[in-house]
Amino acid sequence: MRESYLIREMFGPTLQGEGAHAGSACVFLRFAACNLACSWCDTDFAAESSTKLSAAEIAERLLALDIHRSGVVIVTGGEPTLQWDAGLATALADAGFRVHMESNGTHALAAPVDWLTISPKPQFHAGRFALASALPANEIKVVVDDTVNEGTLVDYEKRWHAAQRFVQPCMDARYAEHLARAIDLATRRPSWRLSLQLHKIIGVQ
Ligand code: SF4
Repeated sequence: MRESYLIREMFGPTLQGEGAHAGSACVFLRFAACNLACSWCDTDFAAESSTKLSAAEIAERLLALDIHRSGVVIVTGGEPTLQWDAGLATALADAGFRVHMESNGTHALAAPVDWLTISPKPQFHAGRFALASALPANEIKVVVDDTVNEGTLVDYEKRWHAAQRFVQPCMDARYAEHLARAIDLATRRPSWRLSLQLHKIIGVQ
């Protein structure tokens, strides 16, 4: 068990902006550090100026943020599986939180979570390391850029038997093209749904 975790930020109350729980109240725990460097990454996970906190301190701060008692913490990063362990899982469960984690799917889970979203980005680690097939994914969320096609989705359907599947257009300078591609993919493969980054559209953190 770790004595401390490198935390980029915690915030809330707010709304989950993406995927199956979009629009639902929650608080956020964002770890520092990631094992990838995706060119269109939109999150700040720099270790510099991040904070080291114990599991008890994290749970205490999240409880203080969750003023309306959503009981849900979105655990993200960076890549959260790099630091996630039984000590923090137990502290958050004891504080009454359900843990919804979003991972890039490259690293094993050292402790269980209540909801696991895999958002694979193999175009940014091909040849270096592989996606982890054994992860217990509840949801797959594919950020759609030029590298994603129908074959990509078929591969993910075979790799992870997740009940919820989403295609989400990359919100970079070519958003309109990625949105058109995501709509086309969701139309062609009906087990996939379109996810939009609601928090960016409605302007909440
Ligand atoms: S895996 Fe996520 S957090 Fe890490 S670099 Fe890629 S988009 Fe950013």
